Amino acid sequence: MKIRFLGTAAAEGTPAFYCDCPVCAKAARLGGRNIRTRSQVLINDDLLIDYPPDTYLHMLNLGLDLKRIHNVLITHSHGDHFFLHDILMKGYPENAGSCREPVSFYGNAAVAGILEPYAKDENQRLRVHAARPFQEILLEGYRVMPLRALHDPAEECLLYAVESPDGKRFLLGNDTGYFPEDTMEQIRGMVFDAISLDCTTGKERDGGNHMGFADILEMRRRLLENHSAGEQTMWIAQHFSHNGGCVYDEAVTLLEPEGFLVAYDGMTITI
Ligand SMILES: [Zn+2]
Ligand SMILES: [Zn+2]
Ligand SMILES: [Zn+2]
Repeated sequence: MKIRFLGTAAAEGTPAFYCDCPVCAKAARLGGRNIRTRSQVLINDDLLIDYPPDTYLHMLNLGLDLKRIHNVLITHSHGDHFFLHDILMKGYPENAGSCREPVSFYGNAAVAGILEPYAKDENQRLRVHAARPFQEILLEGYRVMPLRALHDPAEECLLYAVESPDGKRFLLGNDTGYFPEDTMEQIRGMVFDAISLDCTTGKERDGGNHMGFADILEMRRRLLENHSAGEQTMWIAQHFSHNGGCVYDEAVTLLEPEGFLVAYDGMTITI
């Protein structure tokens, strides 16, 4: 199972819009992995998780081939994860070369509610499926388990556990604080080969909406205790904000000694 982190930032990106904070200034000066676009993950070149406004940039710069994507999982409706304008390019009238095959989107009620009116138009070539916590989805060999996140109480935000056809397990855990008890219950004893955790608040603690460095160490302890991880589990920190107080280079010095890989745009891992 190949997992490619196409974008690794929170909503504002790094450097952020209109921002002159020290983190943004440093990121702009250093460039490279310190520059982050909004979060998106690609699995095996054919399964996409989230559709941020930077999807087009990922297509241009990181080899995302949208023609190969038949299924997209959406975590929640926040604009950094769900950018309707570009999703609708599939059926854009001037886009005559667009491949005819429909794309299936899986998302919570908020996401499905926004997409459904468009999906009624056959020319749009969109299929919409409601994803509910703890109701498994089978798609083209993948077993996907939506899990409940602790994020925006206004909607049912989701995390996704993805099992590939060869039995490898990956858990994408961004836009969440500490996992809710029913999510922990669902994944008890389910050992993941890789777990990616939200690191939005960086040096600051949170846990109720997002997580920071200290929170992901605590979350790892809880997941190990829950038998959702073992010695083989690869740990990744992802979804960073300039508000977290450090750029990629500093995050590496803080997190790698703790056994966490710090995700950057374009990072690929194989499990
Ligand atoms: Zn986000
Ligand atoms: Zn900033
Ligand atoms: Zn969010």
